[in-house]
Amino acid sequence: MNSKAPSILPFSSPFADVILRSSEGTDFRMLKVDLIRSSPMFESMFSLPQPAKSRSSEDFKDGLPVVPLAETADVLDVLLRFCMPGTSPQLDDLRLICQVTEAAKKYDIETATHASREALNKCAQEDPVRVYAIACRLRLEREARLAARLTLHQPVWSTLSCEAEELNGIDGHEFRRLLKYQESCRDNVLKRVSAYSWVLSLPSPARFWERSCCGQRASYVDGTCQPRQVQTWWEQYMRKTIEKLRAKLDSAEVSSEDAFSLFLRDARCATCQVIAATHITTFIRKMASEVSGEISKVELEFVS
Ligand SMILES: [Zn+2]
Repeated sequence: MNSKAPSILPFSSPFADVILRSSEGTDFRMLKVDLIRSSPMFESMFSLPQPAKSRSSEDFKDGLPVVPLAETADVLDVLLRFCMPGTSPQLDDLRLICQVTEAAKKYDIETATHASREALNKCAQEDPVRVYAIACRLRLEREARLAARLTLHQPVWSTLSCEAEELNGIDGHEFRRLLKYQESCRDNVLKRVSAYSWVLSLPSPARFWERSCCGQRASYVDGTCQPRQVQTWWEQYMRKTIEKLRAKLDSAEVSSEDAFSLFLRDARCATCQVIAATHITTFIRKMASEVSGEISKVELEFVS
């Protein structure tokens, strides 16, 4: 194999006593002590008897032993920086993060494992389905659970229409487990939110939409199929919010702006107008916490 020129600093130390070679032939000059301190696997590797210098030129370069590795230079460039004191490489490209996470696991480099898993969690905010697939393939339970939860913040169709190549790395069971999780969360939330029982946990004066003073009265059929007479704005708000949650299961969909604008459209009496701000805010907070609470009760099935 023809090695390429040595990498730029910090992989060209004159004190290096070993060369790690990437799959494409890029050389990384390292100090064994850094590798041994960072990785039990390198510790074992370097505690084995080393080849004599008379072996082929493939095994030595500039008098230093060469260790060929399966990883690409891009991955080693990040991974090996974690083995050097005082360096903390940037991890912002998901594809690279995935490869670094895999390599960090393979070489048992704790600092890189920790940082790459944190980086995966950060990426899950933007790309939860991709991160879910990566986490399943690498058997990272915590990351898979967080990513699955974050898929709920996306429209329901986005998981099924996702064509990310990372999905090729998981099997149909793992993908179905994600869909099943989303469906259970949706069922639980819609059932809970539609029922009036959680509304009744608010004190009676706070449920001012049950008063007959403002606007028309509407019939709200709750989860127990009992029609309740409520102010029209409230019934419309519930219908609108339940539809929004059906499309996107995120407590941020429970919007106080929607509630206020519908209330103000119908508001007729001074009493309701005075108390509305406080009680609508309390009601919205309660409803958002019901949504989060129901989601938290559902557990993603994860096979490690
Ligand atoms: Zn009123």
